[in-house]
Amino acid sequence: MHEYSIVASLIDLCEKEAKKHDAKAIKRLEIRVGRLSGIEIHFLEQCFDTFKEETICHDATLVVELCEVVLLCTSCHEQSVVSENHFICPKCHSEDVSMIGGQELHVKSIEIIEDVR
Ligand SMILES: [Zn+2]
Repeated sequence: MHEYSIVASLIDLCEKEAKKHDAKAIKRLEIRVGRLSGIEIHFLEQCFDTFKEETICHDATLVVELCEVVLLCTSCHEQSVVSENHFICPKCHSEDVSMIGGQELHVKSIEIIEDVR
């Protein structure tokens, strides 16, 4: 139930952001999720739609952008995108690689609806 707590903190963040700008609602929330973050995107979207009802996000659209897994080779410093979970440098075939992308969850943007006075 990892996704529930993610959604809760996303909505929390939106509420803080709205307060800061004196906004009455959130229009759109864009996040970036790494392919290896372990987050079920479909489930995350479902959770968001369930939870948003009573919050500042009730009319918000959640947009999820999936990020590829990026490796950095320790031997030749080549950066590459992993396909089919082969954690090997495509240039020098070294297995001495570190993951520099693909596990993240970032908030890309929060679009607010300003209060009309
Ligand atoms: Zn390499």
